[in-house]
Amino acid sequence: MPSPTLVNLSSLIDDARCFELVRQHRWPEGVRCPHCGNARVARDGRDDTQPDRQRYRCAACGARFDDLTGTALAGHHQPLRVWVLCLYLMGLNLSNRQIAQELGLSSSDVQLMSVQLRQGLTATIPAARLEGEVEIDEVYVVAGHKGQPAAVAKRGALGDDGAWRERRAAARWTRTSRRSWG
Ligand SMILES: [Zn+2]
Repeated sequence: MPSPTLVNLSSLIDDARCFELVRQHRWPEGVRCPHCGNARVARDGRDDTQPDRQRYRCAACGARFDDLTGTALAGHHQPLRVWVLCLYLMGLNLSNRQIAQELGLSSSDVQLMSVQLRQGLTATIPAARLEGEVEIDEVYVVAGHKGQPAAVAKRGALGDDGAWRERRAAARWTRTSRRSWG
């Protein structure tokens, strides 16, 4: 039975709060110039088509930028709230098709957005550097399957109650291993 769309999610969220969210995450200690890093930045009007998008001018190097300059969300026609919702729904593991339905977009639009978001987010996360003592948690190993990947694959393919019980037992058997690097 098809479920009627009662609520359009993006109509419940306003862009002003989304831009506020971006500013808080991007510049928790105040706006900084993305070109030279200086904090001597003056507000310089608002975007022509997105009134909640603040523009700035750097007093040190003269660069002009706005809330989204240099982020994965710059240069796109969708309102910021649609991007934020798309990211939120991606976090809930919805498919592109489901997200498209929720946001009233085409699947191909959502496909482009999700690729953009994934690339943009990974680009801003610095590579992890492990130092000193490193603790690795949440390692699940089924006793008896250690070193037998073929047997594990075979059991996984069965998908019967026994396999489920075994997975549950494995989840209980949480092992914490400690290793030292360097
Ligand atoms: Zn600057």
